[in-house]
Amino acid sequence: MQAGSLLACQHCDTLHAAVAVEPGGMAKCSRCGYVLFRRSRFSLTFWSAMTASALAVFAIANLFPLVRLTLVGKSLDATFVGALWLTWQQGHYLLSIMTGLVGFWFPLTQLCFLLWALGCLKKSRLPADFSYAMRLYHHVAPWSMVPVLMLAIMVAIVKFAGMALLEPAAGIWAFGVLTFLLTALSRLDSMRLWSYAQEQGLVPIAADTGVPAERLGACHCCGYVQETAGHEAVPCGRCGSRIHKRKPDMGGRVWALLIAAAVVYIPANVLPVMEIRSTLGASAHTILGGVIELWRLGSWDLAVIVFVASVVVPITKLLALAILMLGRRWRGFRVQRQRTRLYELVEFIGQWSMLDVFVVILMTAMANFPGLSQIIAGPGAASFGMVVVLTMLAALSYDPRSGWDQARPGTAEAMGNG
Ligand SMILES: [Zn+2]
Ligand SMILES: [Zn+2]
Repeated sequence: MQAGSLLACQHCDTLHAAVAVEPGGMAKCSRCGYVLFRRSRFSLTFWSAMTASALAVFAIANLFPLVRLTLVGKSLDATFVGALWLTWQQGHYLLSIMTGLVGFWFPLTQLCFLLWALGCLKKSRLPADFSYAMRLYHHVAPWSMVPVLMLAIMVAIVKFAGMALLEPAAGIWAFGVLTFLLTALSRLDSMRLWSYAQEQGLVPIAADTGVPAERLGACHCCGYVQETAGHEAVPCGRCGSRIHKRKPDMGGRVWALLIAAAVVYIPANVLPVMEIRSTLGASAHTILGGVIELWRLGSWDLAVIVFVASVVVPITKLLALAILMLGRRWRGFRVQRQRTRLYELVEFIGQWSMLDVFVVILMTAMANFPGLSQIIAGPGAASFGMVVVLTMLAALSYDPRSGWDQARPGTAEAMGNG
């Protein structure tokens, strides 16, 4: 980030002139405290090598079995891809597509685009389709859920430990390493990649041209500050994304998604998420039933994790977003800062409620001993997945800048607390 170039805070829309930052350091917004940008300690070559390793580990994690299970002389190898296929064969198409996208296709897309973009930046040449790729990369990133999948693998294994002989295989270690690598790589968002391009002088830099701040807006994908046409969408002058001064129809969209999520949350909890068939008979399990079962198995720690991910997180997200929407008229600098923190929390916990949905489909693959034991996903699992998708869409439609509009920009109060 060139010192002096203009940048706008994603949370409160305050304009800043970029400052020089040490490698490993970051700059925060003086008004709301949101991290404006970080400067990496590592070179592009380092990040490329890390991305290439992550792709290799991704292949191992999905090609090799996670665990080998043995039950009365019969053995099977469980893989995540196998679990997706089995869920599809059992007729749970929505569930299979949803978990396949967030657990396999989106992380893979993210890694491929990242490796390609880093390659372009290393060569200091941006092809014409760089901006398309970065737009796609920007939209895919929040939906890539490998760390959640990793935790789900651990929960599924604990649930299974008593039922069959279980040996961990190469896939599970690869998923552990992949979780670590993807968490490190998540720092390289589309904005960071564009700022690398900016540092190399490959793209225009936003400079102060004297246009008043209320007419300027930042692109949510590349961060380029430019003139906007009120509430109308205009294409970004740098990456072509459609940019708005504020996200359009926020009120209607967020409320519609929240109400839909609250409605779907009822079948998600009432209907069984899975059915267990064994020689002893069949039994259906709901989300809460699964938590109680984990507790009874003695894994109270995992029971707490699943309870938090499946019950506390979705309810917190629904309530937090409703509070953010209802409290838009609240004034005052401190209130707005707390609203920004609350929104950051919603963004942070976003994907973790997918945990139990992953657990269900992994267990269908692990218990696939026809005649002896079988686990079939229930209608509750797809409903629960829909709750996660709807609340994440609601959070993405919410515009944190809207609250700050009420708290008059640039007041002495705002500067003093920066
Ligand atoms: Zn800010
Ligand atoms: Zn842009």
